[in-house]
Amino acid sequence: MAEIKVLIEGYTTADSTESGEEKTCPTITLIKDGDNKIIVDPGVLDSQKILVDKLREEGLSVNDINIVFITHSHIDHYRNIGMFPEAKTLEYYGLWDKNTVQDWEEQFSDDIKIIKTPGHSLDGLTFLVKTNDGVVAVCGDVFWKKNFPENDEYAIDSEKLKESRRIVSGAADWIIPGHAGMFKVK
Ligand SMILES: [Zn+2]
Repeated sequence: MAEIKVLIEGYTTADSTESGEEKTCPTITLIKDGDNKIIVDPGVLDSQKILVDKLREEGLSVNDINIVFITHSHIDHYRNIGMFPEAKTLEYYGLWDKNTVQDWEEQFSDDIKIIKTPGHSLDGLTFLVKTNDGVVAVCGDVFWKKNFPENDEYAIDSEKLKESRRIVSGAADWIIPGHAGMFKVK
């Protein structure tokens, strides 16, 4: 079984009714899957040191991370991709190793399955991770947070988003959303 841990609980004021500066940070997740040490969505942060310190608490350094998963190509989710010098990067369009790219497999490993979940963006991916507590879906902004308004005004295709939400909810016991802590699927 893989192990999964939210390192940084994301947040956003995008659904706030108050006007003013928007503040957003995605949820940043660590997956330990055999020899793979994976970071999902390294995000934007006040300081990269915050993430370096969180990794240190796990006994890891940036050099130990060998794969970075990107849920979708909005910059708040991937701006810190360069923090991990040894890591391959997996996004919708392929698995990158330095300047080479190959297709990724839907069954990425025994315990990680990758599904396409468009709607919020056209290039959305969800990572379904088998753990001892059940299947955890790391889904980016398919779900922003537990009680985010059903109508995602940033969605590029609301019908596709609805379908992606249905698929993710059906496949997972737990959801790690784009901008909040993990919650249980009803
Ligand atoms: Zn986001």
